[in-house]
Amino acid sequence: MADIIKLLPDHVANQIAAGEVVQRPASVVKELLENAIDAGATTIKLVIKEGGKTLIQVIDDGVGMSATDARLSFERHATSKIQKAEDLFNLHTKGFRGEALASIAAIAHVEMHTKTEEDEVGAHLKIEGSTIVSQEVAVTPKGTSMMVKNLFFNIPARRNFLKSSQVELRHIIEEFQRVSLAHAGISFHFYNNGNELFNLPSSNHRQRIVNLFGGKIKEKLVPVDEETQVVTISGFINKPEYAKKSRGEQFFFVNDRFIRSPYLHHAVVSAFDGLIKKENHPGYFLYLTVDPASIDINIHPTKTEIKFDDEHTLYAILRSTIKHSLGQFNVMPSLDFDKNQNLETPYEYKDKLVQQPKINVDSNFNPFKEEMLRTNYRPNFQKQPTKGWESMYVGIDAEDDEKEADTSITYESDTITGSIFEGKKSNFETASTTFQLRRKYIVTTIKSGMVVIDQSRAHQRVLYERFLKNITIKGGVSQQLLFPLRLAFTKSDCAIIQEIKENLITVGFVFGAIEEEEVEITGVPLSVPESEVGMILDQLISDYQQDFVVDGFSQTDVLSKTLSKSLAVKTGEILDSDSQLALVNDLFACKESGVSPFNKPIYVTITESDIDKKFL
Ligand code: ADP
Ligand code: MG
Repeated sequence: MADIIKLLPDHVANQIAAGEVVQRPASVVKELLENAIDAGATTIKLVIKEGGKTLIQVIDDGVGMSATDARLSFERHATSKIQKAEDLFNLHTKGFRGEALASIAAIAHVEMHTKTEEDEVGAHLKIEGSTIVSQEVAVTPKGTSMMVKNLFFNIPARRNFLKSSQVELRHIIEEFQRVSLAHAGISFHFYNNGNELFNLPSSNHRQRIVNLFGGKIKEKLVPVDEETQVVTISGFINKPEYAKKSRGEQFFFVNDRFIRSPYLHHAVVSAFDGLIKKENHPGYFLYLTVDPASIDINIHPTKTEIKFDDEHTLYAILRSTIKHSLGQFNVMPSLDFDKNQNLETPYEYKDKLVQQPKINVDSNFNPFKEEMLRTNYRPNFQKQPTKGWESMYVGIDAEDDEKEADTSITYESDTITGSIFEGKKSNFETASTTFQLRRKYIVTTIKSGMVVIDQSRAHQRVLYERFLKNITIKGGVSQQLLFPLRLAFTKSDCAIIQEIKENLITVGFVFGAIEEEEVEITGVPLSVPESEVGMILDQLISDYQQDFVVDGFSQTDVLSKTLSKSLAVKTGEILDSDSQLALVNDLFACKESGVSPFNKPIYVTITESDIDKKFL
């Protein structure tokens, strides 16, 4: 058989490598910023257009390159940062693989201006798809400017795979945060579509965090400091009470490099054990310094994973350091009679007037009037009229609901269609046949025996289908807020809200201005209490980050799930008998009454014969 193996031409090899190094515009941003840092820049400017899809430019005042180096820098495995294998264990630069520029040039239009201190004039190069199309001398300041245009111009499949500019911008902001947090001493400017997004002067870590995440973060930060032979740890953790549903602010840096480490993350989370709720995430900005010889960074081209020589020790040190910081922060005399008690009042309450608790007396209340059934089993929950399940999913408009709510209070109606009610309809005899078990389950009887319903999951299902319906028929009803709510978010969280805004509007949110770090809300969906809005948006951002959904359907789905989870009655809540019954009826009017939106069973049936067996 003839020989069939051939070496790939360089431009093909580069394109393949590019697939690993450059996943999206944010990867280019990361590589260019890191090159600027390695070049010793003190000021770095990042300019992007349309989420980096049409333009990414990084301008630095670093050492620059000679004309020859400028040309060579685009070759694969061309690097000034290491020379021999041993250098890998004594790295002090971000880059070392020498493949970023080669990869980027393989899949975009690149233009570079660069000049060293010594040279009189600089170089200006244009490269398109790995080919140098022009090289000229140019008058340019010391340093390097890299312009990357039309990313993936020659790989349509990759280009089409890119998300909206909003989404890509969010990824770029994340990358920018990581790099700029690791290098607080360098000043950064970030322009998006001509607007300044960040202006970060050279500062310390604390100030850098504040400049990136807004002044409000100041009061959340607790310093962390520890020096051992194995590792030096510095940075900040967020106070436990500021733990959030979203994972937003979690940063590990090892030797000034952002890394992901589920293992170390676990160490931090376990230090917070018992101080925060299970579903909340602690925020942290932790800087670890270790001997470069004790780590291996070379396990992935993007260099965000690291192998440590002694992970276990690191884990233990990290955990106890954080516990210590938390302890110091918590150590406060709990009873101190000399103290002025007013100083202890939390900020928000300091200037508020004390209000007399109000007592509302319902003068119409008549305890002997029997059929005073209430429609709502939660103040914020709108009872749907029992029209039969078909009507629940075909655009009933809100006014209709309202009109009929008064007249259709009879729950023992003939509308129950759930399959468990075999044979005749109307299996609920009277209201007294439901009861609540351990504030968790609702038990009710059916022909063949009984059903035990998980109250929280049942309510989730009911709300989920209602929200889904609202979004799909675009009939979200909102209630206008008397005073607009202004909620503070980080820039990247605001970007997410911007992304899902349309869907939020269809469920009934009304937005005023969405600014860089603040969102104004002027209306909320009918069933959403004002006090929950912040929590719900927080949850949404977190779900959104984790599921990473962008297309219309899954967005709607995530939104409905989040809202239903946030608003459903919880285990532990007492429901009166009307509410129990209303919930049961609503549940069995659902399209899928058997499973919760999160795929958990909602009820179990126990038949008479099941019970009989127990008595054998
Ligand atoms: P690496 O960073 O891994 O060395 P790159 O492909 O990113 O590989 O860059 C190749 C080389 O080009 C670098 O080693 C460096 O010498 C040079 N270079 C890249 N960007 C800059 C810059 N902004 N300023 C000065 N030199 C640069
Ligand atoms: Mg590099």
